[in-house]
Amino acid sequence: AKKQGKHRYEFFTTDMETDIIHKMRLEAGLHKALKNGEFVLYYQPIVNVDKQLVAFEALIRWQSPDYGLVSSAQFIPVAEDSNLIVEIGEWVLQTACLFGKRLHDAGLTNVHMSVNVSVKEWLQDDFTDKVASVLAKTAFPKDCLILEIVETMLIENFKKVTDKICNLKKQGIRISLDDFGTGYSSLTYLSELPINTIKIDKSFVDALLEKSNYAAIVGTVIQLAHEMGFDVVAEGVETTEQMSFLQELKCDRMQGYFISRPLAEEKIWEKYCQGMTY
Ligand code: C2E
Ligand code: CA
Ligand code: CA
Ligand code: CA
Repeated sequence: AKKQGKHRYEFFTTDMETDIIHKMRLEAGLHKALKNGEFVLYYQPIVNVDKQLVAFEALIRWQSPDYGLVSSAQFIPVAEDSNLIVEIGEWVLQTACLFGKRLHDAGLTNVHMSVNVSVKEWLQDDFTDKVASVLAKTAFPKDCLILEIVETMLIENFKKVTDKICNLKKQGIRISLDDFGTGYSSLTYLSELPINTIKIDKSFVDALLEKSNYAAIVGTVIQLAHEMGFDVVAEGVETTEQMSFLQELKCDRMQGYFISRPLAEEKIWEKYCQGMTY
């Protein structure tokens, strides 16, 4: 069993070992992807109750020459385990703001851009400076940028992250609490935070018409959120029934396949900036 080359990986037979190899390969692939510009952003529209476009959420994809189009769920966790997420995040923020600026210039003047930010990015000492510098460089207006943080990550790093949230908020940047409901944080606890929006996790939207109690839970969350001054976005809206129920429950904004899947830049341009040169 000394042969190298193609059969080398046959040494690694347990699940754990193959996982390690898989992760190492993926990590190397991600380094290469950053260097070679293989990442792309897709944009998913977020609409208000009148179905008018109010924002886009930027969602990363990896256009790999080896693996094809790879979804973020497959590589973001690996990027988060290594420090790669920091560099990837910088690229995401810059690219989303640049596209946002182009959309504004094409006439979508008030459209917001929502960007996912991993906890490792939030925890950088100079994170707020980095955001300010990207905004200055791209000329995207501060008050149109939304930074998303996953609820559980905020809870686990409360002090450090809230300092940054306060700082960014002072600069006029909006903060959105992603995957709300998965972290067991009480709304009362959050009321101290200068966040703008909570995004109700898709699992609640899925359960809304399927499981008893969920209508009451979601309704109460929306009501309390409003009392605390937060806007509410529902994510993963897939049917017209979910959409109208959420409207009844006074949800402010919706996002999901029922409205639109995430789309590549050119598709967004085609759909929303008709007639403008791309
Ligand atoms: P997320 O932030 O919760 O994003 C929502 C995910 O749900 C996206 O998956 C989106 O494509 C998907 N989705 C939207 N509407 C529907 C729907 O109606 N039905 C279903 N079944 N799915 C829907 P995606 O793009 O694969 O992203 C997965 C996760 O990866 C994101 O979850 C986010 O946590 C992370 N991610 C994506 N892009 C970035 C990024 O640029 N930076 C960071 N740090 N994380 C990212
Ligand atoms: Ca998100
Ligand atoms: Ca989410
Ligand atoms: Ca999620």
